[in-house]
Amino acid sequence: MRIIIIGPPGSGKGTQARRISDKYGIPHISTGDILRDAVRRGTDLGLKAKTYMEKGELVPDEIVNDIVKERLSMEDCVNGFILDGYPRNIAQAEKLDQILRESGKTIDVVIYLVVDDDEVIRRLTSRRICPNCGAVYNLLISPPRKDELCDTCGAKLVQREDDREDVVKARLNLYKRTFEPLLKYYETRGILVKLDGSKTINEVWAQIDGILSKLDFKNR
Ligand code: AMP
Repeated sequence: MRIIIIGPPGSGKGTQARRISDKYGIPHISTGDILRDAVRRGTDLGLKAKTYMEKGELVPDEIVNDIVKERLSMEDCVNGFILDGYPRNIAQAEKLDQILRESGKTIDVVIYLVVDDDEVIRRLTSRRICPNCGAVYNLLISPPRKDELCDTCGAKLVQREDDREDVVKARLNLYKRTFEPLLKYYETRGILVKLDGSKTINEVWAQIDGILSKLDFKNR
């Protein structure tokens, strides 16, 4: 089961991707998480990516393509994967097709979570993450139990640099410019499924699970 989940920043891609990963036993591959981890650890990759990420700009394609190529070659991807945050533009989509073609594979489905701009801004500016264990909260939708402290490890939650309102707006603009062609790319291949991402986490999950359980059945 090879899946891509796309949608604007804050559409709930990460949350739904983690559920897909848990239920279907396939790895959740988030290029944003991989890059953030590299920045945190101060690796060469992290140093290269940091300035782009802080401004809400795309990290150059060559860097991201290499990360994905290496990750997809790992053993845990043999039965599939869920890609979150990649591809972000046509050049990356073409590269992904090429990587998969080399091992005779294709993408089965692209899940598109539709959410409007106001809702995206509202959700992202209220997102908080734990700098210690990486847990993600939303002060409006899924707040921590106590103040702004992590439920799991008790650390003080922080806002991602790129979740500040000015950066969120820049990310949304960039997303729109690059996104339309990407949608067309998958639409013409007949593998794009559009879902209403403004519903609750459980409602969105029910829609996704309904689609994937049929797909799973078809592939058996
Ligand atoms: P995300 O967590 O997916 O919103 O990604 C956070 C940031 O990481 C983005 O704003 C980009 O700077 C960078 N990034 C993540 N995925 C990609 C990608 N596929 N191509 C380029 N940059 C990316």
